[in-house]
Amino acid sequence: MAKQKLAACGGDPVIAPGTIKPWPPIDKTDRERVLGSLDAHQPTVGPNYVALEKEFAEWQGVKHACFANSGTAALHMCVVACGLRAGDEVIVPAYTWPSSATCCLHHNVIPVFVDVDWVTMNIDIDKIEAAVTPRTKAIVAVHLHGLTIDMDRLMAVANKHKLRVIEDFCQSIGATFQGRKAGLFGHVAATSTNHNKCLVSGEGGFFISNDDELFEGGKTLWYFGERRPPEGSQEFYIYGMGWMYRSTDLVAAFARAQLTRLDDYVAQQQANAACLPECLQAVPHLILPQTPAGHTHTFYNYMTRFDMEALGHVDDAPAFRDKINKALNAEGASVGVWQGWLAPKMSAFAAKNAYGKGCPWSCQHAAEVDYSLDQFPVGQKHCDWHTGLTMPLRSPNGTDVAEKVGQAFRKVMENIDQVEKIDN
Ligand SMILES: *Cc1c(COP(=O)(O)O)cnc(C)c1O
Repeated sequence: MAKQKLAACGGDPVIAPGTIKPWPPIDKTDRERVLGSLDAHQPTVGPNYVALEKEFAEWQGVKHACFANSGTAALHMCVVACGLRAGDEVIVPAYTWPSSATCCLHHNVIPVFVDVDWVTMNIDIDKIEAAVTPRTKAIVAVHLHGLTIDMDRLMAVANKHKLRVIEDFCQSIGATFQGRKAGLFGHVAATSTNHNKCLVSGEGGFFISNDDELFEGGKTLWYFGERRPPEGSQEFYIYGMGWMYRSTDLVAAFARAQLTRLDDYVAQQQANAACLPECLQAVPHLILPQTPAGHTHTFYNYMTRFDMEALGHVDDAPAFRDKINKALNAEGASVGVWQGWLAPKMSAFAAKNAYGKGCPWSCQHAAEVDYSLDQFPVGQKHCDWHTGLTMPLRSPNGTDVAEKVGQAFRKVMENIDQVEKIDN
């Protein structure tokens, strides 16, 4: 591609406005299901709610699935299912959505952070054992961006130390490792159906398990701490700490309609992502995401890193990355920083003061934990160097759109001298 004027500098954008179609696609099935739910007059746990839990369990290939009002709620249910108690420690990747760690705090459980691996961007399995203490009871195994962790290796570490494994597959629904779906490796798992995820219901999530006892334990949290399913006769008695994590039949009706197309959505995303390496391999300074052997990647978020060393911007990497993003967005590529903060850098954790008076870290059952940031150099570098690509690769956008996005990356990276002059 010859020298061209970047759109951020007054040139024509590669991707015309309106080219990228919004997510998720809505069709006749969505409308019929939602209207059907209204007409059924059971707005909470109605026919769609019951059917959704069954249909999702079938799709996932799991014995039990409980639909909750968020992925965060489902993660909290996982923590309770595992019987974690005040002062217990749980290993969490330092780079994730904060819910992977706040789900622990909700139960006075202490997150202990471990750095991520540069290639997979998931927890660095080799660094887990050094973080294990006599208080460690579980690992939150977060499968980021549509790629699972190597669960053979992670489960080996967990089994050696008798740790429970909570899978956070909010971003990796439909991703597989050795032919098995994310969410089926650990003891319990949680996924999300919020507006960004690959299965959308607006807000929502599933708590799943193949273990009857763990599932019942986690489910206590779902409805005030009661144990009876609300469609059965209610005892008006609570057995333990409960929240109110139920969703509604309308939301479930929407999710049911979307679930019928989930496999197609994932396949389209994979086909779209598959266009990019060919288009981008000769483009300078891009570090493209990889799919290690044994994995299928859904490319929930197509994560590219800019090689700030080669670009000469190691010291001001986030600021320069933001300029590149500005140039890409001016071309219509719709990129963004997904998570620019390490969890232990956020004040919710760094201040060690979730509930006031230093709780739960100051709890008499807890031990001192170290959140010093020099433990997470890889996660920090990823925070500073990455840009994410989600909606342009989602259905109904096809490979024609993906190719245009590739052209936008190419144009910007081949005209990086112009990016240098953009104001942040
Ligand atoms: C989206 C997400 C969550 C939280 O899901 P919500 O439904 O928004 O509560 C948790 N963990 C990860 C990794 C996520 O991406």
